[in-house]
Amino acid sequence: MMAEEGYNPFKMAQQQFDRIAEQLDLDEALRDLLREPLREYHFNIPVKMDDGSTKVFRGFRVQHNDALGPCKGGIRFHPEETGDTVRALAMWMTWKTAVADLPLGGGKGGVICDPHDLSDREQERLCREYIKKINKNIGPLQDVPAPDVMTSAQHMLWMMDEYENIEGGKYPGVITGKPQDMGGSKGRTEATGYGLVYQLRELLKELDRDIEETTASIQGFGNVAQYAAELFIEYGGTVVSVSCWDQEDEKPYSYYKEDGIDLEELRGITDRFGSIDKEKAEEKGYQPLSGDEWLTHEVDVLLPAALENAISEDNVNDIPDAVDIIISGANGPITPEADDELEDRDIIVVPDFLANAGGVMCSYFEQVQSNQNYYWSKEEVLGKLDNGMTDAFYEVWELAQSKDVRLRDAAYMIAIQRVAEACEARGWV
Ligand code: NAD
Repeated sequence: MMAEEGYNPFKMAQQQFDRIAEQLDLDEALRDLLREPLREYHFNIPVKMDDGSTKVFRGFRVQHNDALGPCKGGIRFHPEETGDTVRALAMWMTWKTAVADLPLGGGKGGVICDPHDLSDREQERLCREYIKKINKNIGPLQDVPAPDVMTSAQHMLWMMDEYENIEGGKYPGVITGKPQDMGGSKGRTEATGYGLVYQLRELLKELDRDIEETTASIQGFGNVAQYAAELFIEYGGTVVSVSCWDQEDEKPYSYYKEDGIDLEELRGITDRFGSIDKEKAEEKGYQPLSGDEWLTHEVDVLLPAALENAISEDNVNDIPDAVDIIISGANGPITPEADDELEDRDIIVVPDFLANAGGVMCSYFEQVQSNQNYYWSKEEVLGKLDNGMTDAFYEVWELAQSKDVRLRDAAYMIAIQRVAEACEARGWV
């Protein structure tokens, strides 16, 4: 979520925190401690370009809180990266790791750059120079980065390699999201999408509903959306629509099939960015509709798994009465105004930082495996993921029931309370 004019993600993160801190009656010192990052690093990164010139990039690493364990969070490469974006994302990582009950804190990093404009060699040099600026402040016991927007397993590998060059040893646990044959965890690709569906499965059980009778419409057809669809269909559910960005037409489309999509058929005509070939989809009987229509179908479940602000004041009223569950795969897909409207309509919203925590949970598993230099099977990883996501769901669900609050507030309460207690137990406040 990049900082747009008039929209400041860090202010929004602080407002969300303040509201729950008030409800929890947190003392003043804890509020002061938790509404700002513990530490942040801003630095210039000079990089030698292929043409012999030098270009200076701006880099950030923000460590919001590490009372529960080493900071964890991705490094983004984005032309519109800002200090406040990184601060907000670091704070949200603190709550995400805490609600998932992981022994980790929250951090985030970024570089203002557009990797599309950089050659592979220039990107490699940028990764290595980034690490040279921050190596003393990250590490398996301090702060463990991961990929994020426009950074990949290859970027993580260059960063790990540079860290090892400097430190003079092997430190696979310094970074996660590595390629699988270089210490990456099995199951990471599936983790976020599967994690969503583990929680949806439990929610449906609580509502005494049969997953086999459940229909869903998904926004997106990338990593999260495809694996969420895969497991949901495996459990017997029906996905009637998915959507994606169309590079050629420069707009999104949703693809609808009343009796359910054939996942493998659609995957076969989708590129690595999650864009479906429109002509081939039409040939296969999928009706291309406008991008917004994904949320207008008469389904039980909406699963936003593409972008922030997907459900806002402008379209929340287009959601039909049939929908009574929204499970957020994307980060920040629902604006606060739309969230209030959904609550008024008794639509259950499983909030992003709970529902999509499967990604960071699996990253934590990668950290554990790397630190032990011992690697688990995919079944073992997914079994632990299922247990972890199921437990996290029930803790939030039960608190929401007992306090009669929405799931988002219950999730925030658990997360903030856990971090606050860790700060107190350490004697920080
Ligand atoms: P991705 O790049 O693999 O897929 C994104 C998908 O969204 C693509 O299919 C793209 O075509 C589609 N899309 C883009 N613009 C669209 C639009 N206007 N309308 C409809 N579809 C559109 O990304 P991803 O990894 O699947 O991540 C999706 C969301 O989930 C992001 O918000 C991301 O931050 C969040 N998330 C991802 C992970 C993870 O492990 N991948 C973990 C936590 C949260």
